[in-house]
Amino acid sequence: MLAGAALVTTTAACGAGSAITEAEGGRPEVVAAFYPLQWLTEQVGGSDVQVTSLTAPGVEPHDLELGIQQVTAVRNAALTVYVKGVQPAVDDAVEPDTSFDAATAVKTIPAAGGHAEEHGHAEEGAEEHEHEVAYDPHLWLDPSRLATVATKLGERLAAADAPRAKAYQDRAAKTAAALGTLDQELAQGLGTCKTRTLVTAHEAFGYLADRYKLKQVGITLDPETEPSPTRISEVAKLAKAEGVTTIFTETLVSPKVAEVLASQVGARTAVLDPLESKPSGDYMSAMRDNLRTLQTALGCTA
Ligand SMILES: [Zn+2]
Repeated sequence: MLAGAALVTTTAACGAGSAITEAEGGRPEVVAAFYPLQWLTEQVGGSDVQVTSLTAPGVEPHDLELGIQQVTAVRNAALTVYVKGVQPAVDDAVEPDTSFDAATAVKTIPAAGGHAEEHGHAEEGAEEHEHEVAYDPHLWLDPSRLATVATKLGERLAAADAPRAKAYQDRAAKTAAALGTLDQELAQGLGTCKTRTLVTAHEAFGYLADRYKLKQVGITLDPETEPSPTRISEVAKLAKAEGVTTIFTETLVSPKVAEVLASQVGARTAVLDPLESKPSGDYMSAMRDNLRTLQTALGCTA
């Protein structure tokens, strides 16, 4: 029956329904849009699925363009796991029946600074279309929300691949529990701090700030846009007023702007990982590194 479903999918191209199709090795192929979703899908899918990521390590995901092979992979996949609003090319390629939008699983927060339309839209001459979302898409930086996504993804895989339903649900529960532990560590570790203001290179940490009651001030909204001198002195003034000792830079973004700002404020810089690409460890270890960095920078006593 599964082999039949696979045949139908490849011949009918799209609108394949929700039956999971099997990859060559006999396991359903699941495509993840970028790293945190790849990690989550591997945790929940385990050895029952074959996971591939559309965004290669070290690549900034927002401006990803898909080659014809990747579009084909999305079309043929049993499921594509993505966050609508992060990557316009992926938003365009997915089919409703065979995709899972993690943003539909959680309560989202409004887009950073109300400039949603600027995020991930560096393409010159790109036509305006309905990729702009009103919410902040960086939801994976709150482990409690990611736990909810894990549970919903488990349900989705279970519904699509009924014979292995229990295995998906069990792994989803285990993953959600591990994320719950991480959430508690963050809540405790960031409970009492000298300052709660987080000055970041690009506004990726809204969910972290929302969950742990921090205040995020982004120097720029788009990782590829240089802030104006006016914006830099505005942030410098605010940083001084709020006792900020550290300006955060991030992996994949040039630290130049943060360094300029830090020298104006008399602050240091430190790297905070928005996990838009694969870290040296995995999601859990990178978030724990972020916690330690934040505790030092904000002067937290746990
Ligand atoms: Zn981003």
